[in-house]
Amino acid sequence: MTSPLIYVESCPICGDGLCRIRICVTNQRLTGLVLCDECEAMWTDPSMQERIESSSSETEPSCPTCNQSLWGEQSHWASIGEVCLLGWFDRVRIAKV
Ligand SMILES: [Zn+2]
Ligand SMILES: [Zn+2]
Repeated sequence: MTSPLIYVESCPICGDGLCRIRICVTNQRLTGLVLCDECEAMWTDPSMQERIESSSSETEPSCPTCNQSLWGEQSHWASIGEVCLLGWFDRVRIAKV
């Protein structure tokens, strides 16, 4: 089973990556972010007005809610259901992969 690729647009920072929806779940709380799959630039939502500067500037992007790595076990790329839950469904594009 392949999951569809959900993204907002191609990345305005690096030009190569796609800005996709990253989900972090801690204490049953769902945090949604827009994250470039190439350069790891982050935004608070699909309007991409507000960029998030990663607090641990070192290697990995971290969740602004729990500060854990967005490549950690509590985090994953959003499913369509999760995008709906965030209320972002009409602001993303879906590509079949
Ligand atoms: Zn990028
Ligand atoms: Zn988190």
